[in-house]
Amino acid sequence: MEKTCTEVWNSCLQIIKDNIPNQSFKTWFEPISALKLEGKVLTIQVPSLFFYEWLEEHYVGLLRKTVKKQLGDEGRLEYNIVVDKSSNTGSPYTTNMPSNGNGAEAKSQSMPIPVAINKDIKNPFIIPGLKKLNVDPQLNPNYTFDNYIEGDCNRLARSAGYAVAAKPGGTSFNPLMIYGGVGLGKTHLAQAIGNEIKRNLPDKLVIYVSCEKFCQQFVDSLKNNTINDFVNFYQAMDVIIMDDVHNFAGKEKTQDIFFHIFNHLHQSGKQIILTSDKAPKDLAGLEERLLSRFKWGLSADLQVPDLETRVAILKKKMYADGIELPGEVVEYVAHNIDNNVRELEGAMVSLLAQSTLNKKDIDLALAKQMLKNFIKNTSKEISMEYIQKLVCEYFEVPVEMVKSQTRKREIVQARQISMYLSKSHTKSSLKTIGAFFGGRDHSTVIYACQTVEDLIETDKKFKAYVNDIQKKLKMS
Ligand code: ADP
Ligand code: MG
Repeated sequence: MEKTCTEVWNSCLQIIKDNIPNQSFKTWFEPISALKLEGKVLTIQVPSLFFYEWLEEHYVGLLRKTVKKQLGDEGRLEYNIVVDKSSNTGSPYTTNMPSNGNGAEAKSQSMPIPVAINKDIKNPFIIPGLKKLNVDPQLNPNYTFDNYIEGDCNRLARSAGYAVAAKPGGTSFNPLMIYGGVGLGKTHLAQAIGNEIKRNLPDKLVIYVSCEKFCQQFVDSLKNNTINDFVNFYQAMDVIIMDDVHNFAGKEKTQDIFFHIFNHLHQSGKQIILTSDKAPKDLAGLEERLLSRFKWGLSADLQVPDLETRVAILKKKMYADGIELPGEVVEYVAHNIDNNVRELEGAMVSLLAQSTLNKKDIDLALAKQMLKNFIKNTSKEISMEYIQKLVCEYFEVPVEMVKSQTRKREIVQARQISMYLSKSHTKSSLKTIGAFFGGRDHSTVIYACQTVEDLIETDKKFKAYVNDIQKKLKMS
């Protein structure tokens, strides 16, 4: 007596079950149903294209063997794929995919619709009961381009991000990979792109997800047998922003899943934005095929911002928070915290907290005392700029004057003391010092140092000035 398709498939399942881990069986085989048996061709229905790809990639040998065992050497397996009504193709259809047994590309032939199950995509961020796919992009509205200060450190990444935001999926920056050290603004920029897209194109489905969260969702979906919903959700997006992809390291199964999602989105012209703490070539623990895709588009790095950019970031932040700090405090903070924007902001926040608690205005002295804990390297190198600034403040003369040709007494005095302190407190050569203070030559510097030393010996008041300034220098 002829066996029915269900009987044949059930016998296959028996064998498969004995050959793979229980969890894999539950995830990948339980959702399959047998559809028909025509001659030696068994057709099974799988819930999505992704399922088909996964089976072909991971279980093709096992499937081929079991089908042949049941149906003889001519036994063949075909797939019938349920396509979600919410996917781009519009009306539901089924696709017939002959398995050629070696995992080659699927040949899809659209068929008249024998069976199609419409499923609503489930959102792992959970908005149950919503009919239309209405996705909260999980973006923080505070991260915008407006408050992302531009500097040499981020120009390429920022402008590429801007281009992507104007035309998601429509530039060659796909994926756009933003990389750089901690606290340099990767998350801010990536989210700014998402927010900008939502502003320009509100109907685009955008999702921001940290790599860690994605991994967790994947594990949960395995546990709850909702892997198909999980993948469908991400494959339905127009823009996916994945933060900190270095966290994929060592998580092979999640990488596999993301590889498929990536391919699907990329092929359909959807935008992928990634951030990472290292350049793609330096990422360890990631599969080669995934890494190679990360290199397809543009990798743009974020560098440590220069002093000017750091000051601008602090000012922007102060403005946003409606607070004011004396200019010299801002300069001091920006000058001394120079490797990480997050720490820069952190220092400012604790300054504010201190001043509120102590009911004291923030001045330079308080800032210095406060920031001792923030600044690891206390014996920081003193620069000529700093010396010049200090001396000019002390004598209340404009900085430009020291560099000018003027021979006014108090200016000459400030200039000579600046040169003298630069000689004793920096590693600069006489030539460099001369050049810095208004393009003078080294003999002028030697003369200045000589004069200052003489005056210290003979003029008590002068000696007190120099001591005062030196004390201030040591405090910095
Ligand atoms: P990362 O993700 O690289 O660790 P974040 O994006 O979290 O860094 O940035 C740390 C903090 O610094 C955030 O508060 C962010 O707003 C701020 N920040 C970084 N770069 C800039 C910038 N160019 N302009 C303004 N704020 C910035
Ligand atoms: Mg981040």
